[in-house]
Amino acid sequence: MRELKINERIPMEAGGEAAVIQELGRGGQGIVYLVRYKGREYALKWYFISRIKNPEAFRNNLRRNIEDGAPEGGRQFIWPLFLTKQKKNGAFGYLMRLAPRDYDSFTDIYNGYRWEKPRAKGQPARKIPVRFASLDTMITAAVNIVKAFRALHLTGKSYQDLNDGGFFINTKTGDILVCDCDNVAPDGQNFGIGGMPGFMAPEVVRGMAMPNVLTDRYSLAVVLFKLFFRGDPLEGSKVLKCVVMTEENDLIHYGKDPVFIYDPDNASNRPVKGVHNNVIRLWSIYPEFIRQAFTLSFTYGIREPNARIIEKSWIQMLIQLKLDIVHCQCGRTAFTSTFEKTGNHTLTCQKCGSTIYTLGVKDYELPLNPGARLYACLTEKNSDDCETVTGIVIENRLKKGLYGIKNMTRDSWTAVFPDGTERQVGPRSGVPIWKGLDISFGDGVDGKILL
Ligand SMILES: [Zn+2]
Repeated sequence: MRELKINERIPMEAGGEAAVIQELGRGGQGIVYLVRYKGREYALKWYFISRIKNPEAFRNNLRRNIEDGAPEGGRQFIWPLFLTKQKKNGAFGYLMRLAPRDYDSFTDIYNGYRWEKPRAKGQPARKIPVRFASLDTMITAAVNIVKAFRALHLTGKSYQDLNDGGFFINTKTGDILVCDCDNVAPDGQNFGIGGMPGFMAPEVVRGMAMPNVLTDRYSLAVVLFKLFFRGDPLEGSKVLKCVVMTEENDLIHYGKDPVFIYDPDNASNRPVKGVHNNVIRLWSIYPEFIRQAFTLSFTYGIREPNARIIEKSWIQMLIQLKLDIVHCQCGRTAFTSTFEKTGNHTLTCQKCGSTIYTLGVKDYELPLNPGARLYACLTEKNSDDCETVTGIVIENRLKKGLYGIKNMTRDSWTAVFPDGTERQVGPRSGVPIWKGLDISFGDGVDGKILL
């Protein structure tokens, strides 16, 4: 194929021309250019047309995606916006918005750093650390990734090429952007993409299935595993023993005989000290219900596409995981599972001895350590918003050592004490943390401070 030239003008289907400014990057499918169209800057993806199996069908699918628009208004997607006209040789591309500057690629986050181009010629490139602002932010990002795929799947489409190059994440807020949306297709249809090794479902690797919603779910579990444990769920001692990773080996370890590194019934592929240190260290830190979710995904779920965890369940589990983080007043940050249980729902910090009660609401449990936050997913009906703060645990200004939940919403809550007395808790006021206390957040959402 002929590459585009700087200043070349590309006619657009919607009228007008896009002017090529510079190359931004290139991959297996094509080259991405910075272009100007109708006074605004966009990214243009220009295809290596010879590498597309059926260019006409691919182009029609792209046009349909542009017409349909991105799921849920597109805030989380870098979606195709405009199609170019075709050149004489059939070549074409599409325009999308540019990724904002304050986002990092999932690949850089996974590696823990990115390379910054030297400011002046001759200087070396600088290695810049890429880390989440906090554990909470990382889990927020995970929830947002799953929500984006739920939104896409609800439109009856699948992504088909889920991999670590497909996301940008704001490590300060946990906001995410799904990019490379050009392979998105109605579930059951496929326009040539297979996926990326390591992320593809085994039945796709074996050539038994085309990418679909169920194979997306497998890839989603891989993405979440990599985000949390910084390693590959199927790369352990069995894979290391193979000296070269040829295509044949990929087929065996990721297609025909995939073995989860922590498969409870098969220890043949355990992570290896000195090679898989991240996974070994992080796997033990996470609560049991999260380890079970990944174990299911990569044992039974590897063979049974219908047994894979649906987005709604992941969202519930990940929200609980976020709520499980305790930032103890002594400075210790850890999941509740590592605190000492001194009652059915009461925890004690082994480091500072402080007692932490728990709020039970909906199916969630929230440890009420000072500084703990209530989110809309806890206090509002039908909400899975784990970012909007609706309450916060603070110390009483007048009575030191007495803690309460401050209402950060604009609505009143009703607190019912164990003896039956009721109290209205208006906006900005607080309710003491009291064993057996019920809090009605409105709309039939009730919480209880558990013993
Ligand atoms: Zn503590």
